[in-house]
Amino acid sequence: MSEILIRHADVVVTMNPGRQELSGADVLVRDGVIAAVGNGLVAPAAEVVDASGCVVTPGLVNTHHHLYQTLTRAVPGGQDALLFGWLKTLYPIWARFGPEEIFVSAKVGLAELALSGCTLTSDHLYLFPNGARLEDTIHAAREVGLRFHPTRGAMSIGVSDGGLPPDSLVEREAAILDDMVRMVDGFHDPAEGSMCRVGLAPCSPFSVSRDLMRESALLARDKGVMLHTHLAENDEDVAYSLAQFGCRPGQYAEDLGWTGDDVWHAHCVKLDGSEIGLFARSATGVSHCPCSNCRLGSGVAPVRAMRDAGVKVGLGVDGSASNDAGNLIGEARMAMLLQRVSLGADAMGAREALEIATLGGARVLGRSDVGSLEVGKRADIAVWDMRGVEAAGAWDPVAALILCGPTRVRHLFVEGRQVVRDGQMVTIDLPLVLERQRALAARLAG
Ligand SMILES: [Zn+2]
Repeated sequence: MSEILIRHADVVVTMNPGRQELSGADVLVRDGVIAAVGNGLVAPAAEVVDASGCVVTPGLVNTHHHLYQTLTRAVPGGQDALLFGWLKTLYPIWARFGPEEIFVSAKVGLAELALSGCTLTSDHLYLFPNGARLEDTIHAAREVGLRFHPTRGAMSIGVSDGGLPPDSLVEREAAILDDMVRMVDGFHDPAEGSMCRVGLAPCSPFSVSRDLMRESALLARDKGVMLHTHLAENDEDVAYSLAQFGCRPGQYAEDLGWTGDDVWHAHCVKLDGSEIGLFARSATGVSHCPCSNCRLGSGVAPVRAMRDAGVKVGLGVDGSASNDAGNLIGEARMAMLLQRVSLGADAMGAREALEIATLGGARVLGRSDVGSLEVGKRADIAVWDMRGVEAAGAWDPVAALILCGPTRVRHLFVEGRQVVRDGQMVTIDLPLVLERQRALAARLAG
């Protein structure tokens, strides 16, 4: 039996049904599971982690990413382009990737997430050049120690068939479906406390056929795994749907079986009122990616309306080529600010943003075993030191975490295992990984 006692936190934010915040409280972890939350806990054999001056929250949950893109941040030709132009700049670069690029960039992206408080992330990998495979990212997540929901993405309609990606990056649909089966059978773990759940994720309506969308939905239901894609990201995306399919993105998704509590869509910036109603009725989830939406000029997603209608909303940093940061607590701040831009200062509070970043994301990913600090939940815990310069002078430490900072976690635990200690990664040699990343980036740029 192994025990960790996180002791004397200024505040423990539980995200339990009563949204209790406990002052001067402790969290006891036993064998990767939360054994107790409260004041004055006693556990003589436990490893003690002093949380004085800290806010303790559930680990943050990232519901949308393309980890491979950490190798193509701030690429000059893509810095100021809209989505489609941005993609056309980057596709030829990504076509030169191989297994090592996918593996190393995933490790960097996962470490960046961990340092920003993330304990569970999904990833959307939709190109597999030069022998790259989805398990390259799974191996990276095992090393870094984050809970991982990789999704087997795909593109099948290249330029010569009227699609956006170059023909060299698309795959045959039969081969895609075969590899989806291989990934689910080989790597998906549905059990409570699972460290790896595989999802199926054709890239977007403009890069795969209707058949592949339908077939992957049938396969996901047959295997009991989740579905993920990009939807209604910007005006171009909606115009494409109207021109090619004669309907709005929500209708397209519904017609192909892409609604339900086992589906989550990234972005959804352009959902209209009836589509929000459809998502609420069908329990379809949304991954809100505020920084990416700003970065690509896509617009402000109607998150207030979604939440008020009962749509499940989580946060996503999105790929590091369209953010270009991967800081999840920073994303929570941006989510709050962005709603205020269009709706006013009372449109979203700091606590609601923190809820979306934790419990909200867990619900979107179908996880009832994480997202809150309650007895019996998995021990995915972020400890934030509020004594630094960022939050100095703050009157309300919980609100300060979103309104001020810090943006880097002090300690991070996943399944009770320490991933970050005193602000440093302990599961991997990060400087060594970054050195390798720089070498790969230089080779791609040269
Ligand atoms: Zn994306």
